[in-house]
Amino acid sequence: MNTRVIKIDPLNIDYSLMKRAAEFIKKGGLVAFPTETVYGLGAKGTDEKAVAKIFEAKARPLEDPLIVHIKDKNDLYKIAKDVPRLAEKLIEKFWPGPLTIILKKNKNIPDIVTAGLDTVAVRMPSNPIARVLIELSDVSIPAPSANLFGRPSPTSAEHVLNDLDSRIDMVIDGGICDIGLESTVIEFRGNEAAILRPGGITLERLCEIEKNIIPYDEKNVIKNSPGKYPCHYSPKAKVVIAENNAEQIENVLSLSAFYKKSGYKTGIMCKKEHAGFLKSFDYKELGPSGDFCVCAGRLFSILREFDDEKFDVIIAEGIEEKELGIAIMNRLRKAVGTV
Ligand code: AMP
Ligand code: MG
Repeated sequence: MNTRVIKIDPLNIDYSLMKRAAEFIKKGGLVAFPTETVYGLGAKGTDEKAVAKIFEAKARPLEDPLIVHIKDKNDLYKIAKDVPRLAEKLIEKFWPGPLTIILKKNKNIPDIVTAGLDTVAVRMPSNPIARVLIELSDVSIPAPSANLFGRPSPTSAEHVLNDLDSRIDMVIDGGICDIGLESTVIEFRGNEAAILRPGGITLERLCEIEKNIIPYDEKNVIKNSPGKYPCHYSPKAKVVIAENNAEQIENVLSLSAFYKKSGYKTGIMCKKEHAGFLKSFDYKELGPSGDFCVCAGRLFSILREFDDEKFDVIIAEGIEEKELGIAIMNRLRKAVGTV
């Protein structure tokens, strides 16, 4: 199967081209599309066979449930039930946007979407291309990230094609994703909401709206969130984290020297402020350490660039674990395989 690529300007959407994409969804095909987080791989949410193709194309285990993307709040009540007051409150503030909520599922969601669970993960994306695709397809769209399972998530159409060319029907190229990291996933426990995956909506922003937020805690998550795999978001290169502390740059220099001397092609993903110390090494700048948005936007792309350039080892400088830094460090630790 040849994967078709269409280019769409998110600020001036070509509806006739978008209708072609929606036709693929309606006919049970697979379409990769941009969201504000990362590129998603979508199929018709009511068609079990179509959804099965998502798992096949990505080589994703069937026990890893999908996030269902919807266009408006009315759709929520078609796929979920018993929506708690707290969910309504957070939806009001953060939808459309990168917040995924876990709710009791309605019968009309095929089991394959939720990996047989009686709950469903739902989100309303803000990217206009994603929204038009859902609207024209006239169905909710389950969509995991449009990469091969376990690889860094795709933040451009090129990343999608690198992993899935000829495995899917179409890619909508809508440019680089705004955030570059996946959504925050939360579940409700009584009158509290617990973060199962840190992401685009930060703990700090959630806490501005609601005091009963349980922060992300890896130990707490495994049992509640199926599909949590110890190794995820991983480039082919080995990732070594140089933690964010007072000795960071010394550690980066000695680690890099060690791996280089051992014969490994070694690259460094560094804070912009540290680039000046690294002239004798291969390095790529994640961004200024205080600019979490820039760092989030570049993370997956840099991991993929190192792979394309056949690096064996990536020394990754850790950043402060607050705001989006929490999600960035979570993805890095997953890439290493330590959480
Ligand atoms: P992604 O691979 O980015 O599409 O993320 C999907 C993730 O959302 C899964 O790996 C789960 O961790 C989480 N998720 C999806 N559905 C559920 C659910 N019903 N209950 C708990 N977590 C879920
Ligand atoms: Mg994914």
